[in-house]
Amino acid sequence: MIDAKTLAEIEELKEDCIILAHNYQIPPIQDVADFVADSLDLCRYATKVEKPYILFCGVDFMAESAAILNPDKTVLMPEPAAHCPMAAMLPAERLRQEKERHPDAAVVLYINTRVEARALADVTCTSANAVKICAALEEEEILFGPDKNLAWHVQRHLPEKRIIPVPAEGHCRVHVKFKKEHVERARKEHPEAEVLVHPECNPEVQLEADHICSTEQMARRARASGAREFVIGTETGLCYKLKKENPEKEFYPLLETAVCRTMKKNTWEKFMEELRQRRNVITVEPGTAERARKALERMLELSK
Ligand code: SF4
Repeated sequence: MIDAKTLAEIEELKEDCIILAHNYQIPPIQDVADFVADSLDLCRYATKVEKPYILFCGVDFMAESAAILNPDKTVLMPEPAAHCPMAAMLPAERLRQEKERHPDAAVVLYINTRVEARALADVTCTSANAVKICAALEEEEILFGPDKNLAWHVQRHLPEKRIIPVPAEGHCRVHVKFKKEHVERARKEHPEAEVLVHPECNPEVQLEADHICSTEQMARRARASGAREFVIGTETGLCYKLKKENPEKEFYPLLETAVCRTMKKNTWEKFMEELRQRRNVITVEPGTAERARKALERMLELSK
């Protein structure tokens, strides 16, 4: 519970600063944020920002996207060392080698990739629009990175294309914790619940689910569905937002230990310190930013 004095201070500090929080952030940060969403919606929202500062509560690649799309704003992070391990699995050099091996392939990179690699992509995507983006491309062969499970999900929906995962073993270490037996156990414990899982989960888990959704798609499904109970196969932080939006419904994490330690590096103390001090400025080299921005803008255009 945030006390009234702190809330008043935050309101004052927010006069020139907008707070964006990813769905996996800790509850108090979600509570005071101006906008809580997945990386695609945060990207879209970042482009409409009118205040000079953006305090981005998420991980490195998300704040880099906000910086690229808002070159005239100052983008801050509570913890600048919140480096997503999956994003680091595809270094730019490795992608260059794969592009040489597949000169006719289009390159689609999940937004969860470091900006230097994204600068080499034709288009960026998120888990919400990966299928739509790949379907819209003329090329039959697509280099897709860095998440092999999202690549599998895209391939399943687009059998006419050849989706090549780069690297072959890229994954999110939070989502690969889920196993088929966790879904089976959840179904026994909550027989009336809908099972929603993220496309970063292993294929065996995706095949067992009722719906495969990005976090925003999970939020939409929870609002629209007639079901009263849901099993949520993604980082546990999303359950807080779902319960807040749907207090009459129940949300059970598929696995209590599905916690992203990187996301949770943004502690409440670091958040308050950065809102006051504004020291952790996220910058992207201008040439890299320009190329990565084109890939991001193409995504925003194709996903309208
Ligand atoms: S949940 Fe996975 S993809 Fe998202 S920031 Fe954490 S490690 Fe990276």
